[in-house]
Amino acid sequence: MHLKQGIMPLRRALCIGIPIALLLAAVTVFILLPKGNALSVRQIPGGERDGYALTLVMHPEEGTVSVRETITFMNPAKGFLENAVLRFYLNAFASEDTAPVAPDVWQSAYPDGFSPGEARLMGVFKDGEALSCAFIDSACTSLSVPVALQAGERCSISVNTVLRIPDMCGRCGRRENLWTLGNAIPLLALYDRDQGGYRTDDCGSIGDPFLSECADFDVTVIAPAGWKPYGSAPFALGEDGAFHARAKCIRDFLVVCSRGLEAKRMAFGDVTVEALVPENADVLPSAGRMLACFAESFGPCPYPYLFICASDFPYGGMEYPGAVLLSEALFQETDGWELTLAHEIAHQWFYALVLSDQVKSAWQDEATAEYAVILYARKVYGDDSGERIQYQKALLPMEQGGFDVTPGAPIGLFGDSETYLTLVYGHGCAYLCALDTYLDGRLPAFLRAYLDAFAYGFATRADFENQLQIFSETDLSALTADFLDTY
Ligand SMILES: [Zn+2]
Repeated sequence: MHLKQGIMPLRRALCIGIPIALLLAAVTVFILLPKGNALSVRQIPGGERDGYALTLVMHPEEGTVSVRETITFMNPAKGFLENAVLRFYLNAFASEDTAPVAPDVWQSAYPDGFSPGEARLMGVFKDGEALSCAFIDSACTSLSVPVALQAGERCSISVNTVLRIPDMCGRCGRRENLWTLGNAIPLLALYDRDQGGYRTDDCGSIGDPFLSECADFDVTVIAPAGWKPYGSAPFALGEDGAFHARAKCIRDFLVVCSRGLEAKRMAFGDVTVEALVPENADVLPSAGRMLACFAESFGPCPYPYLFICASDFPYGGMEYPGAVLLSEALFQETDGWELTLAHEIAHQWFYALVLSDQVKSAWQDEATAEYAVILYARKVYGDDSGERIQYQKALLPMEQGGFDVTPGAPIGLFGDSETYLTLVYGHGCAYLCALDTYLDGRLPAFLRAYLDAFAYGFATRADFENQLQIFSETDLSALTADFLDTY
């Protein structure tokens, strides 16, 4: 995610005018995307993976989406697994008491007053038999499903749910012509192989506590005439009148339904980008430059498709594998969206490709995404511009002190979003800039090695630090602790 505070149009951040910015961008697209060197996609690993077969039926009059879901998965535990756990994040939005919305954005999230969201469970079945399941938290976001699997055993369960889409501006919300179903579809919780057990972290108002494994998705959307789905993979209208999409090795699948809006599309080699954004925003060439910049630094694009959607999301933006939500408010200025889009696209590497612990170690993907924005500014607009962005993103936040929480703390310890932004994004980014200095400018090479080591998997902070020690052949734990664990 990228919070909106402190974000300014790129042009103003770089202290240049529109014509110079456009000229620089035009020149750079040729430098970063020379003919014959178009974007390539990382090879998806082989082998059996978990799979989700989803059928979503949209009911605009009721404000609901019914979901039929078949989840095929392998026992992730070393031994016998009594219960699997599914996450129903949308249930946190069922009441005003539990809705994970910070007080300072409550009004912009619910401009027409509170509207509940809910994933109502209609039934869970295994081999045609109904299972007796129970939510294990008071907000009903973690469902325990009795599966009784032996080590290495696979099974299929079917889950029927009715999603009540809240009338709100958020990851999941419905407005007149655009429904976004971010983090609304029930998914398997992440299994912690070190501790042995599923992660059932609280869904709070700060950060993005979404943890899930990569799986293959087969998604069908049935929508009334005039509505069209978009999302983490391109949808095609089938002869059955339904829309179908498939994505391999992806850890979540964003679905968006729009009415009367047509996305613009552009291909950059093996990667296709589609954008559903205001008419006057020239987002596609910029997205191509960002993908090219990050592919050059961090390795091939994780997925062959990227969907960019402007919505009334009250924060700056939100990342999904193969998709990005951007706040409509960013489009009020000519290039107000550019740095936020760069941050969200960087999450295709730092989150979608390698998941880090978004609850215990949020800096690990947020600060790396911020550092990637500095790289982008430097590559596209030159060293001076990179310096200015680095000053804003890393050095200015370091001038702020006196906090009672450290940048490396779990998200639950941050009292407000401004502190979270300053420490996790700002001080975290300063840590990476310091690492880059220590590594003689080889931080991108280290990050690439880290991504290669954990591609399509999960990396804890310890994994990051171990990888850093291997790469640098030095013990940098004191430097790391100085930035991340010091008040
Ligand atoms: Zn982010």
